[in-house]
This record gives sequence, C-alpha cells and structure tokens, in this order.
Amino acid sequence: MKKCPRCGRVKNKFHKNRTNKDGLNSWCSDCINDYHKKRYNGNIKEGKLNRYAKIRSKWNEFFQNHYGDPICGICGIPLKWTSDNKQDVVHWDHKHGLNGVRSPSTFCGNRPCTPENIELWLSYDFGILCRWCNRILPTEGRQNWLHKLTKYCMGTPGIHTV
Ligand SMILES: [Zn+2]
Ligand SMILES: [Zn+2]
Repeated sequence: MKKCPRCGRVKNKFHKNRTNKDGLNSWCSDCINDYHKKRYNGNIKEGKLNRYAKIRSKWNEFFQNHYGDPICGICGIPLKWTSDNKQDVVHWDHKHGLNGVRSPSTFCGNRPCTPENIELWLSYDFGILCRWCNRILPTEGRQNWLHKLTKYCMGTPGIHTV
C-alpha cells in the first residue's frame, strides 16, 4: 500500500516500474489510465478542431472569391468571413427556410470545399447578414411577417408619419 500523489488515495494498485526505488510507479494505475485517456481524448479533440479550421479556411477563401468583401444584405455594414467577435462576423441567413440545413457554418465546417459541396452550398442561396439583422428576421413565413410589420409601422395614425 502507498499513497498516490495525484489522487491522494492510499492504494495497492500500482503498475510496476523498475526505475523507482520501490519498483512501482509513483502514480496509481487508475491515475495512469485516467492520464492516458485524457491525453488521448485531448488529441482527438485537437485533431477535430484542426480539421475544422482547415476546412473553414478553404471555404473562407471560396467565399472571398465568390462574394467579395462581405456586407450585411440589409443594413450594409461591413462584415468579416472569420472573426472571434460575433458582432462583425457573417451570419448566414436561411433565405428560403431551413431546407434541411440547420447551421450553414456547421455545413461548411464539416464538408470539405469540393466542387460538389460548393454547388450544394450555392443551391441553398444563403444570405449574408449582420448579427442584428439576422436576429430580427424570422426563418419561415417572411412574407406574412413583412405584411404584419408594414401594417404595424403604418397603422398607428398620427404618431409615426414620416
Ligand atoms: Zn492515483
Ligand atoms: Zn445588418
């Protein structure tokens, strides 16, 4: 029995290690397993992130070539294809409803930028919006919403006559 410095528990589960005086690892076997598992999962996670980032940067190149510098389709403020800041990054808008694609960013993060996928992407005709304009627009039933919005804005006599 000895105390493991990592988990602080007294155990008798230690792998053999000849380089140590007592012939055992200093960490208990549970801690060793845990350490390797965490490192393994960490590598996988990192690998996935790298893959995503690589795919995204190819798409961003394509976006720049295809659409030019992005601006919001409604208010016209300049945007960026990629940014850590949610305020100035492109928000893809589902112009024609969801069409089976919930998140355009995930779509182009998971699929490599191949001609087939580009064709698929373009067939969805996603709109480029800023965060704020994207927020106010409903995904479905826009005609109806627009009709109601117009009615609301025009419908209070005497207050907001421009
Ligand atoms: Zn331990
Ligand atoms: Zn906008």
